[in-house]
Amino acid sequence: MNAQLALLPDVSTAQNSNHEWLNQILLAQRNGEGCLPHNLGLDSTAFAQLQQRLVLPFQSNATNQALEKGELRQQLLEMRRDEWQEIRDLLLSGRRNADTAEIWLADIVAAGCLGGNHLWRDLGLPSRAALRDMLLHNFPVVAQRNDRDMRWKKFFYKQLCEQQGGYVCRSPSCDQCPTYQDCFGDEQ
Ligand code: SF4
Repeated sequence: MNAQLALLPDVSTAQNSNHEWLNQILLAQRNGEGCLPHNLGLDSTAFAQLQQRLVLPFQSNATNQALEKGELRQQLLEMRRDEWQEIRDLLLSGRRNADTAEIWLADIVAAGCLGGNHLWRDLGLPSRAALRDMLLHNFPVVAQRNDRDMRWKKFFYKQLCEQQGGYVCRSPSCDQCPTYQDCFGDEQ
């Protein structure tokens, strides 16, 4: 284990933090915020396990608008399942292996990447900082590679492109790139 990973919190701390992030994400979806499907991108078995762990009465209290939106988002996810799978696999390739919730969060983050807003907003997290904490906490090997604070969706797709030998960038370096702000700008 490398020195940075050795400093990461123990399993129960990891689970408590994930509990909080999952609560925020689920509550936001039920309030019609973000871009996630009703099951947050999980299959029904995994979603049932997640609900059991959260032990909260979220099963039936989504607004009608949230239910309708969640249904549309599920259809979109089915149409883009291959893309979802690639992002999920990328995250899990760098997971911490401390908590089952890492698998749920990989499903959720991959589903969030299919939305049109900043990733933290699409997930229903309170801030970009919270998203960064969650990713570093659960997928440290992948997240630590984003050492220039690139926007997370851009970062994931760039990682996939590089893995597959593709060329997402039209400039040889970020500092000279005409679309620098798209990759590194503020996220309000
Ligand atoms: S800033 Fe330009 S060169 Fe850098 S990752 Fe973004 S598109 Fe690629």
